[in-house]
Amino acid sequence: MDYSSSTSYRPHMILFPFMSKGHTVPMLHLASLLLHRRIPVTFFTTPANRPFISQHLAGSEASIVELPFPEQVAGVPAGVESTDMMPSMSLFYPFAQATKLLQPHFERELENLQSVTCMISDGFLWWTQYSALKFGIPRLVFYGFGSYPMTLSRLVYVNGLLIGPESDDEPFSVPEFPWIRLTKNDFKASFGETSGAQIDFLMKAAKSTSESNGLVINSFCEIDSVFLDYWNREFKDPRGWCIGPLCLVEPPRVELQPHEKPAWVQWLDLKLAQGNPVLYVAFGSQADISAEQLQEITTGLEESKTNFLWVKRQKESEIGDGFEERVKDRGIVVKEWVDQRQILSHRSVQGFLSHCGWNSVLESICAAVPILAWPMMAEQHLNARNVVEEMKVGLRVETTDGSVRGFVKKEGLEKMVKELMEGDMGKQVRKKVKEVAEAAKTAMEEGGSSWQTLNLIVGETFKKTSAGNDVV
Ligand code: UDP
Repeated sequence: MDYSSSTSYRPHMILFPFMSKGHTVPMLHLASLLLHRRIPVTFFTTPANRPFISQHLAGSEASIVELPFPEQVAGVPAGVESTDMMPSMSLFYPFAQATKLLQPHFERELENLQSVTCMISDGFLWWTQYSALKFGIPRLVFYGFGSYPMTLSRLVYVNGLLIGPESDDEPFSVPEFPWIRLTKNDFKASFGETSGAQIDFLMKAAKSTSESNGLVINSFCEIDSVFLDYWNREFKDPRGWCIGPLCLVEPPRVELQPHEKPAWVQWLDLKLAQGNPVLYVAFGSQADISAEQLQEITTGLEESKTNFLWVKRQKESEIGDGFEERVKDRGIVVKEWVDQRQILSHRSVQGFLSHCGWNSVLESICAAVPILAWPMMAEQHLNARNVVEEMKVGLRVETTDGSVRGFVKKEGLEKMVKELMEGDMGKQVRKKVKEVAEAAKTAMEEGGSSWQTLNLIVGETFKKTSAGNDVV
């Protein structure tokens, strides 16, 4: 639907992501999706995050509004305005709490904006709910994850399943989904700890979400409906809507002129010409990986004899001397920001060793690349279960003690890398990921499930707001 010709109704959306790449990237895709439909968008950010956002929205009609990031906040190093700039994820809670100091600046900007019909803001920016209420703007919440972790986390929490007698690694069933077996360790970072800052933050986020007008979910009904339908039927507050995968809004640039190709794409071209399938290795923008674990990754990759492209973040420890030289015929390590979707779409890439950040999972699925799951933090352990046990589009690395958070030795990595790239289980998940990739494409196409849901949210439900009726 194109709203530019409508004289009676012209939506205007505010988008405000949390300051991390995993939350900002899909929100930028959402901005593009709305702009394609001629819906004006105002995108909120902070000065150090602006260049990333401006680059993405360059040439579009989106307005970008910059709010000054608070200075001299205890626990937040000067100049750090996004989680990938933090020296360690242990600073997450002071950082997240500091965003509250943006509220007066945000509200000053809201006073100047004309006829905003909807705010889509991050669940981690809980305080935007109260700004939305103050200004009478309906708010939809975006967290960046799918319905599987959302519904299971809530069920586990309300049923007190984490305070049962089981040890941290003993599987327990979720009565509402009897085929699913979870462990306390799948939830550790979210609910297992009792640190005051964590509980306080999660409670504020949950309360403000339940008071909002809905949840927009970066996923699609074809993989999420079992969990989303349960949520919408049993929990209701607020209703969830699948509108993704948002990474499909703008196809990655794959047909590049030779002078436009970064060195790693040229290397992938070479591997394609040699007929050597490549494993893509990346653990997202913010994972903390210990030096010992990093050592096992390097040895495991070296001994697997697989061709690999490893995108390694600066903050991870240095890899051992001589590694890059020893593997140079079949492995490349990249230390820059890459276009991950471009890499995944390269025809030589046949597997993704991933931490299972939800964006990486969706991007891999959309490129029909099977996943070797190695979750590290946040809801990634649940995403990994979803990948391996529910969607069946990937395998999982083996930990030494079989626990979900255990150490991965080179043997457990090497074995599963080979299985994914060459084994029978690898073949099965490769076949399945192709089917799911097709379903994802269909969901986003005109008339598809996500396309229709977005129409419903923008076109129908918010039309009601202008008539003064209830929203969603
Ligand atoms: N990403 C990228 N280039 C990089 C590193 C990350 O394009 O060098 C993108 C990646 O494609 C994904 C996002 O950053 O869209 C990371 O989100 P994800 O949920 O996968 O992981 P997180 O970084 O939040 O742990």
